[in-house]
Amino acid sequence: MKIIGAQLIQNNGNYSYSCNYKLRRNPLFINQNYMGGLSSDVVSFGTRENPAEVIAENRNAGFSKCLSTIKEIKDLPCIYCGEPMMPASMKSRLALSMANARGEELAEKLLENRKYLKGIKRNIAQKIATAAIKYPDENIQEILTRLAPVYKAELEQEQLEVLRNIRKKYSGAFNSDIEKKLFQSILYETTQWINNESDAGVFKRKTFLHELKNILYLPVFRNRSVIKKIISEAEKMPQSFESESAFMVKYYRRSPREIVEQLFYEATSTLEHIKPRTAGGVTAPHNLAVACARCNNLTRNNIPMTKFVDMHPEIVENIKKNLRAILNDAKKPVVDENSCSNPRRKRAVYNKMVNDRAGYKDYVSAIARTFQQESEGKISLKEFIKE
Ligand SMILES: [Zn+2]
Repeated sequence: MKIIGAQLIQNNGNYSYSCNYKLRRNPLFINQNYMGGLSSDVVSFGTRENPAEVIAENRNAGFSKCLSTIKEIKDLPCIYCGEPMMPASMKSRLALSMANARGEELAEKLLENRKYLKGIKRNIAQKIATAAIKYPDENIQEILTRLAPVYKAELEQEQLEVLRNIRKKYSGAFNSDIEKKLFQSILYETTQWINNESDAGVFKRKTFLHELKNILYLPVFRNRSVIKKIISEAEKMPQSFESESAFMVKYYRRSPREIVEQLFYEATSTLEHIKPRTAGGVTAPHNLAVACARCNNLTRNNIPMTKFVDMHPEIVENIKKNLRAILNDAKKPVVDENSCSNPRRKRAVYNKMVNDRAGYKDYVSAIARTFQQESEGKISLKEFIKE
């Protein structure tokens, strides 16, 4: 184990190493937050209660770098939901080409990639496609701007509805006059804010929740259990990943590329810690699976694997699907002929892929073992584990 010139930092009870860019590129070291060059030497301190293991130098030998290639496999089934994922590089290429597309071309590109759209994003894409045919001179951002006013009105109604529910349920929950007064003024000012009648600018969910917590946790408010209930009610304010109107209003002023990237965000392949970092899991290949951004950020949410598999028994089959797809990918032709025009670059990509693929079996075996361990045997993956 070798750590060069790094600095131990503590952040909210988490310990990690920080180092400058040059050191990050050193293959003997990676920072907890740096996912670029996964190496065999990784240090992660986890939390104070749950100190992470320190990996021995050769634990990930043989497959230490193949994960970046696996993450680029097109349509790899997500380890949890089993749906096809879009590699990050493909997403940026798509965003680039769609940013300038208009009319039929834009509509076609959206519908062609329909399988990568999840939840509300599918409806939104359908609406954009319909509008693109109707207004063939407009790009995706101009179309969103055209559609935005209707959604703005809709979003305001959804937000006011959340406030009405809070008022209805909790107006009678306070005893002292000062509590009652403050509570009423929060409701009044938030209503003004949503209706754009205050100087606070556009209503923002995150800012609202932050400020609400600041006020409600003042010592004036004595009944903590009521406060908690009010906050969880307030968290029902629509969010852009689950409400069409919230998405439209949040993104119509962003660049065309960002809009496309956000549309396809959920299907993007990401690295997921099998043993969560909050439980001391390390950022090393044997603890990293490839999951879609939706499952990684929303579904799994640091739940321990033993519990998670009880909540989502379907993941057992999907894990097998993912691992099988990785092993099958190694049998496909190495470089896509159209992937690169520069012959030298192509040779480099070729060599990297050949090297990386040699590690696939070891990688699959290692994460199969981690899944078994972390689920306390509830997920059985014997067929993938090399002795
Ligand atoms: Zn998923």
